[in-house]
Amino acid sequence: MNEQMTNAGTASRSPSLTIDFGHEAATSVSPAPIAAAPPAVTPLAILGEAVAAPGGPMSSRGDGSPIHSNVVIIGSGPAGLTAAIYAARADLTPIVLAGSGAGGQLMLTSDVENYPGFPDGIQGPDLMAAMRAQAERFGARIVDVDADRVDFGSRPFGIWARGIEYRAEAVIVATGASAMWLGLESEERLRGRGVSACATCDGFFFRDKEIAVVGGGDTALEEATYLTRFASKVHLLHRRDQFRGSRIMVDRTIANPKIEIHYNTAVDEVLGDAHVEGLRLRDTSSGDARVMPTDGLFVAIGHRPNTEIFGDRLEIDAKGYLVVRDQTGSRVEGVFIAGDVHDHRYRQAVTAAGDGCRAAIDAERWLEASGITATSAASAS
Ligand code: NAP
Repeated sequence: MNEQMTNAGTASRSPSLTIDFGHEAATSVSPAPIAAAPPAVTPLAILGEAVAAPGGPMSSRGDGSPIHSNVVIIGSGPAGLTAAIYAARADLTPIVLAGSGAGGQLMLTSDVENYPGFPDGIQGPDLMAAMRAQAERFGARIVDVDADRVDFGSRPFGIWARGIEYRAEAVIVATGASAMWLGLESEERLRGRGVSACATCDGFFFRDKEIAVVGGGDTALEEATYLTRFASKVHLLHRRDQFRGSRIMVDRTIANPKIEIHYNTAVDEVLGDAHVEGLRLRDTSSGDARVMPTDGLFVAIGHRPNTEIFGDRLEIDAKGYLVVRDQTGSRVEGVFIAGDVHDHRYRQAVTAAGDGCRAAIDAERWLEASGITATSAASAS
């Protein structure tokens, strides 16, 4: 689900400095360590565990037969992991197919200052590690694989991930959204060679360098501010004359002496052969072109919902987001939807977490109402 964020290759930015961007952004080494991240659980580990664990997956003998669970959750951002916490506490023994970029967008976020309960803020990866540990504490089984195919045609539903088939009575889709790119050939060619979509992952490499951030929303404002920790100067390039981001972030950005704002500025080309050397910019009001020397470009222009594996099985709106019915449901009975994969309005960690909670409670009640599980009072306690 994070394929758009993959940085490829090894970058050589100057004869004396070699930078390895050869990692998936979501799994790359970040300045913020994942304090309590549990070890990755492979499908085989799950299989081995499943036979012995009371209340674990209903059928799994290591013979290639499907792994059954009441609930499979696809995605492990705040929506998926909150759903896992609630489903696990309701004794539904959920399996979470966490994705190879487990943890979602917050793994690429530095300071999270608006998640309730953390008056001094918290690093995104630390928040996700805590949610994951909390879900596992109640028995959620988390597998760091991408789901690559689903069959929602009949129940139990089928979900395939790295050759393993999972069968679920209910599914919670919480696949989130991935960073968008400008779509320039030069941007793609230099991705990992000075072009990045993850300040937290790659900012460290630009110590005392002059770099640029493109975008005008909260992500761009946040990334620009974060990058001033490393860069000597950050040029913030926005195609309009007004930011889309929140007032507090705009004020903070304007007040930062290391950030120079360029309104009405579009990036037409990223310049450089082996690594980024500059940008060809265009004034969006006059059309005038100019070249700006820079060592790096961070693209922070929004996100695209991760819906590819669902094809036309789930309804998709004009913006590409999943459509929910009756709060957290979908057009397939027993398939629930939570988080940024359907939410283009709020898109906050806390709203995604709330959504995950709602989807898990709805799934639990639906399983009970359908006679699949016994009535339980555990859900909302
Ligand atoms: P966003 O709000 O959709 O902003 C995307 C920005 O990128 C816009 O300014 C847009 O320009 C620009 N853009 C889009 N396509 C472009 C292109 N091809 N070329 C140049 N510029 C382009 O996305 P976001 O900043 O990722 O934020 C998404 C949501 O997450 C928001 O609700 C935001 O509040 C939230 N968020 C919150 C925090 C926080 O509170 N800490 C941090 C990050 C994100 P236009 O303005 O011209 O459309």
